[in-house]
Amino acid sequence: METPHVERSDVEWDYIVVGAGSAGCALTHELVTDARKPRVLVLEAGGTDRSPYIRLQAGAFQACLNHDWGYRAQPDPTRHGLIERWWRGRVLGGCSSINSTIYVRGAARDFDRWGESFRGAHEHGWSAQQAMTILREIETSDQPGAARGSASGSNPRWQGRSEPKSSTSAI
Ligand SMILES: Cc1cc2nc3c(=O)[nH]c(=O)nc-3n(C[C@H](O)[C@H](O)[C@H](O)COP(=O)(O)OP(=O)(O)OC[C@H]3O[C@@H](n4cnc5c(N)ncnc54)[C@H](O)[C@@H]3O)c2cc1C
Repeated sequence: METPHVERSDVEWDYIVVGAGSAGCALTHELVTDARKPRVLVLEAGGTDRSPYIRLQAGAFQACLNHDWGYRAQPDPTRHGLIERWWRGRVLGGCSSINSTIYVRGAARDFDRWGESFRGAHEHGWSAQQAMTILREIETSDQPGAARGSASGSNPRWQGRSEPKSSTSAI
């Protein structure tokens, strides 16, 4: 990929976000919607995500081929030296632009571990139970029988609502 020519700039930034992937974009959104209007610079190594391969489910594999960092694992002696390809998105949206748009929650045990680590340090807790409240707010599904919940069916424990994020299991 060609390195773009960058003019020297005297602009000062309050925040510089390196990588406009899943986390970088979410963080940037939080920063730019802050009432204090901080100046935010986002640096992304990859290019635009305006590609039909990214927009259309059927193009997911081509999106991987076009926007991958090209990492390879070490040969695996337990599998006749197999070298796995470790896909990582190099494009606006990062891996979420090439991950076939399937939404999977994090493991409850991880949330609980973070909850232990950050106990008292944040206004909002990180335990699985606390995270569930937030996940339910941002999730919905168009799967028949999911009753505005996640792919876990109509169990009210898992139900989300319709805005702002739409997740679907209809693929
Ligand atoms: C093929 C594939 C399928 C997947 N399927 C699923 C799935 O079905 N469900 C699911 O939940 N998850 C899935 N994942 C995982 C999920 O997409 C990732 O865990 C998540 O997107 C990672 O987010 P992130 O912000 O940590 O990193 P990324 O989204 O990878 O963001 C990192 C960004 O930083 C940029 N960057 C890196 N270095 C630099 C640098 N030096 N300067 C500037 N920019 C830089 C990268 O180009 C990238 O855009 C999949 C991932 C892949 C690759």
